[in-house]
Amino acid sequence: MTFGVDGRHALVTGGSRGIGRAIAARLAGAGAIVTILGRDPVAIDAVIGAREAHAGFVADVTEPDTFRKVIEDAVAQSGPVDLLIANAGQASSAPFGRTNPALIQRMLDVNLFGVVHSIHAVLPSMIEAGFGRIITIASTAGLKGYPYVSAYCMAKHAVIGLVRSLAVECAMTGVTVNAVCPGYTDTDLVAESTERIAAKTGRSRDDILQELVSGNPQKRLIDPPEIADAVLWLCGMGARSVTGQAIAIAGGEI
Ligand code: NDP
Repeated sequence: MTFGVDGRHALVTGGSRGIGRAIAARLAGAGAIVTILGRDPVAIDAVIGAREAHAGFVADVTEPDTFRKVIEDAVAQSGPVDLLIANAGQASSAPFGRTNPALIQRMLDVNLFGVVHSIHAVLPSMIEAGFGRIITIASTAGLKGYPYVSAYCMAKHAVIGLVRSLAVECAMTGVTVNAVCPGYTDTDLVAESTERIAAKTGRSRDDILQELVSGNPQKRLIDPPEIADAVLWLCGMGARSVTGQAIAIAGGEI
């Protein structure tokens, strides 16, 4: 099933690992022409080598000038971007007392402004074409609070505000704007958080993982392909009336 993405040019930020890689693979499998972005050229080459993307560029989403250049190169190679999956993100944790302005800025730079820069880079050509799909990979942390990650929660809540506003602004253009909000998902991001907590507290990784998934009524980590399936559906023509939504993929947590 192609979901109508056949031949569409998809740009997946942070497509080199984790959720972004699963999305790239799913879109490529459905016939989209997939370009991925990330900071590690070796990881990008591995995804292309596995035929889970057609092209890749090294770019940091926090640098708008790099974005403009990369979009020009990607467009020259594969045509204007039809499907933007703004997925790249990072999660740092700290109690609020140690959540200083530098940490907040770092979380906003990657998780919020990274999304803003990528949308700025592709929206004009989507509007001109009369078609586009903008999907941000936000988080349940954009819909509810979690302890020790207030800076991350601020950024993800802001992304959902952006999605809701831009969806209305673009309603008559053929461009839809949505957020997919995973709960804890089985990627490096969760593995690194578990390592960090283990190093700080001396607790076992199993114990920490049990605590992380305890908020999910299904008591398990989400698999990245589950997120990819939701993204593929949102990219298709069947989802043309779905815009401004924040869709939780979280086992009933939200
Ligand atoms: P991973 O750490 O596994 O992968 C993150 C991806 O983003 C990598 O491809 C990484 O590539 C890229 N990336 C990170 N920072 C930048 C940057 N500054 N510029 C360009 N690329 C960057 O994370 P996940 O796959 O788990 O997370 C993907 C998204 O899903 C994030 O937005 C995250 O907040 C969100 N999410 C994740 C959840 C989880 O439990 N895993 C739950 C809810 C939401 P590289 O490092 O090579 O640049």
